[in-house]
Amino acid sequence: MRKKSKSIVKVGAKPRVFYAPAALHAWVTDIRGKGQTVALVPTMGALHAGHLALVRLARRRADRVVVSIFVNPTQFAPNEDFGSYPRTWATDLHALSELHVDAIWAPGVATMYPDGFATKIVPGGPALAGLEDKFRPHFFGGVCTVVAKLLLQVTPQFATFGEKDYQQLKVVTAMTRDLGIPTKIIGLPTVREKDGLAMSSRNAYLSADERTVAPTLYRVLRECARRLNAGSPLAATLTEGEEQIAHAGFAVDYFEARHAETLAPIASRKASPVRLLVAAKLGRTRLIDNIGV
Ligand code: AMP
Repeated sequence: MRKKSKSIVKVGAKPRVFYAPAALHAWVTDIRGKGQTVALVPTMGALHAGHLALVRLARRRADRVVVSIFVNPTQFAPNEDFGSYPRTWATDLHALSELHVDAIWAPGVATMYPDGFATKIVPGGPALAGLEDKFRPHFFGGVCTVVAKLLLQVTPQFATFGEKDYQQLKVVTAMTRDLGIPTKIIGLPTVREKDGLAMSSRNAYLSADERTVAPTLYRVLRECARRLNAGSPLAATLTEGEEQIAHAGFAVDYFEARHAETLAPIASRKASPVRLLVAAKLGRTRLIDNIGV
């Protein structure tokens, strides 16, 4: 028997791609009518192994998996990277086919925000924790508005989000609960490169030199978590951690310890559970990461 060439990649059936809400709605109604469950994985595309792990998690929870790909303009400030955000449709489609994703929801900007669009969700609670919101004040309003729309369009029983964007996970969970949206939000631990760097579509912006420095963020988070667990005082540990990150060449936005559920500031390690969260710029690339203590 002839050996199959290794270069032949087995690709599953292509996912259905929906661009219009009516067609998506008809498909979802049919699925739900058969008693099947649906999980949504919201993304902005430029998919990496972290996104694909979210898809696999969704697959374990539901009969059908929908991945949304939408670079959401309302979560970018005018000075941010909306225009240059990586868009890799062909490779995204290939990866989602391999994972047997059932459908891709790929609305255009005019579909999500038609002329006259005038409604916005204004999240509180974890969205005002003084972390990402302090440096990107527009961000969680934009995220909540688009995620609420996606959940209403797809009506999934489950939606998966990454702990990589830890504050976002808490904000979306609170919004879904507060608005009574009947979707269970499921978090996934951060997927990392071998050297510890959290996978991110924005890692593509790093120069070769910056890429060698970038894993410092997670190295310092881990070291600080270890020291806190060994009894080191909170304030000194954070100060030293921040210094190490700055010394490596980052401009630090924040490096903080927070209550892992409420994101409220904590006075000592005795508060529990604790999460360390960091955001820092390396050149023009802003990276975020976090770790449980
Ligand atoms: P994005 O496309 O960056 O908006 O991210 C879409 C989803 O993927 C969000 O729920 C992110 O938290 C999640 N995500 C991004 N990077 C990772 C990662 N390295 N590990 C786990 N989830 C991730």
